[in-house]
Amino acid sequence: MKNSDVQIEGIIFNIQRYTIHDGPGIRTEVFFKGCPLHCKWCSNPEGIKGEIEVGVYSNRCIGVEKCGCCLAVCPQAKTGVLIVEDHKVAKIEREKCSNCGKCAEACPANALITWGKRMFVHDVMKIILADREFYRKSGGGVTLSGGEVFLQWKFARKLLLECKKYYLNTCLESSLYCNSNLLEQLFPYVDLVITDIKHMDSSLHKEFTGIGNELILRNIKRTAELNMPLIIRIPVVPEHNNSVKNIRNTAEFIMTELHNRVKQVQLLPYRQLGTEKYKSLGMDYPMETFRQVERSVWEENIRTLVEVMKSYGVPAVAGTTSKLK
Ligand code: SF4
Ligand code: SF4
Repeated sequence: MKNSDVQIEGIIFNIQRYTIHDGPGIRTEVFFKGCPLHCKWCSNPEGIKGEIEVGVYSNRCIGVEKCGCCLAVCPQAKTGVLIVEDHKVAKIEREKCSNCGKCAEACPANALITWGKRMFVHDVMKIILADREFYRKSGGGVTLSGGEVFLQWKFARKLLLECKKYYLNTCLESSLYCNSNLLEQLFPYVDLVITDIKHMDSSLHKEFTGIGNELILRNIKRTAELNMPLIIRIPVVPEHNNSVKNIRNTAEFIMTELHNRVKQVQLLPYRQLGTEKYKSLGMDYPMETFRQVERSVWEENIRTLVEVMKSYGVPAVAGTTSKLK
């Protein structure tokens, strides 16, 4: 490995081994921190901000009188950055915090958790290569996900290049909300692209994710033109994008703009996850008051929408586990 490779650092908020949903076989999934979208239904709020953050789980704090390690090591303690309520650390005043992570390192009770870690390519590769035998036997490999991988594309490219040196299957899960020129920086080292179409109406897309859909749709089109193996996902969120009209519009886009050059279109149910993580980061969860519909209801809804897609000839399925065409 060249010195320049070693010097590139990424900020990663999770590395999950033995995953089976994001690409074929058994995989190691690397989650990049930082995302330009703010989807109302996001269940990984720890992946949104690009910098390292500390989450507070107050119920685990053993008390500042008994412990107080965080206050002792925090370089900003005098500013009142760590807020104590009922003798426990309750929250962090984010504007005063430098995200140094010292408090979490010192906490003996896991009441303070660091989200995000600076890693070199070779640190990540060490973890990836530990499971080579599983990838070989299962036809699996490595998936880069996020957050948004393209926000750290230089690191991603080095990592993908390194994976390819070991002949590993690689999958890129991305919103594709990025400068179109960057696609070709990563695609030569990617075996499968997974991306979402969250809504075909750009103004509703903006309302639900913070940005319009034009660039994303353009990049999806470019991905298909480049003949990249492509899976499109639709997170089906009741009262947001689960109308037959939206699914028809999506199917028409896939047929006319992509010429159905997709391996699969996966319709996924929305599940209200991540509430505790939002709280720990002092963030509001926009879907907190959403009332989860019963399983039988959402299953029926997804079945109907899959059939609508199929009526256009789109290879639509429910969930992530159907065999690829
Ligand atoms: S991350 Fe650093 S500055 Fe922020 S509260 Fe913890 S120790 Fe203090
Ligand atoms: S270090 Fe952890 S357990 Fe100790 S006072 Fe701080 S938050 Fe509580």
